[in-house]
Amino acid sequence: MFSYRHAFHAGNHADVLKHLVLIACLRHMTQKDTALWVVDTHAGAGLYRLDGDYAGTSGEAAEGILKLAAAIKAKGAEGEQALAPALADYLQVVRSFNKEGQWRIYPGSPFISQHLLRQEVRDKLKLFELHPTDSGTLAANIAQLGAGRQVGIAREDGFEALKSVLPPPSRRALVLIDPSYEIKTDYAKVAATLRDALQRFATGTYMVWYPVIPRPEAHELPRKLKTLANSFRKPWLHATLAIGQPEQAATVPGEPNRPGLTASGVFVVNPPHILKAALQQALPQLLEMLGRGRGQGQVVEAGGG
Ligand code: SAM
Repeated sequence: MFSYRHAFHAGNHADVLKHLVLIACLRHMTQKDTALWVVDTHAGAGLYRLDGDYAGTSGEAAEGILKLAAAIKAKGAEGEQALAPALADYLQVVRSFNKEGQWRIYPGSPFISQHLLRQEVRDKLKLFELHPTDSGTLAANIAQLGAGRQVGIAREDGFEALKSVLPPPSRRALVLIDPSYEIKTDYAKVAATLRDALQRFATGTYMVWYPVIPRPEAHELPRKLKTLANSFRKPWLHATLAIGQPEQAATVPGEPNRPGLTASGVFVVNPPHILKAALQQALPQLLEMLGRGRGQGQVVEAGGG
């Protein structure tokens, strides 16, 4: 437990997919003049340095945000204008945390959400992070925003704590469930948490991220979530992005080839109606820029309701 530190993975292709979807949902949900709650059950540290020790150790952003930024730069102004709106918006949000032309800071989900929430209609952000170090870092990072009571942070188990905030007073919420899946019981907990949350607050928008890895629990999770959403008669959207195997296998003598995570998925219950079309436009472009070898692909499917 607690060997996972998101700083090693910040800005990788999985973060790009997850945060692209998060931003597209929040842009739509913040158009209505009623307070929105965002609940982030597994918040992480909030803000990451792409040139820091952690990111440098794994270099995962090199196959994510940094590769994307370089590909877009190479396309020039015309290429950037041709970007799918959701992709352009994602890039613009990440860019806003950086100085012109630099990609040194990567915002995690808490900072992305806070960036898009509105003080004037009293949107709220509820963050849960259990890691002893990361919860402290998150609190320190958030304190610098001076967002006051808009943002609440607790060092609690996000699966359990979600129960205490549903339903939100305004009856409008987006819940991000983004565990590290360090322990395989996380898969079952995600499904159980979503079931409980839908019983408490059936009209909330729920977004689950998961890794696409050769493990039965990971393979079964999207199927389980579809069955669950269908049993509540709720619409759902499922999107996956697989960047494929690395073209050059790491050749450390005596070490097995570890390609790292090559694919991930996002499952959304009660997605904004614009989401499917937005992702159908954005994901092929994303794959064109991030795809590398065998096994690459993207899927956007929707159902239920
Ligand atoms: N949502 C973040 C983002 O997009 O920037 C990344 C979160 S990271 C994938 C998962 C986080 O969950 C880790 O920081 C880990 O310490 C934390 N964590 C693990 N188990 C938890 C639990 N039961 N409740 C809350 N946080 C937990």
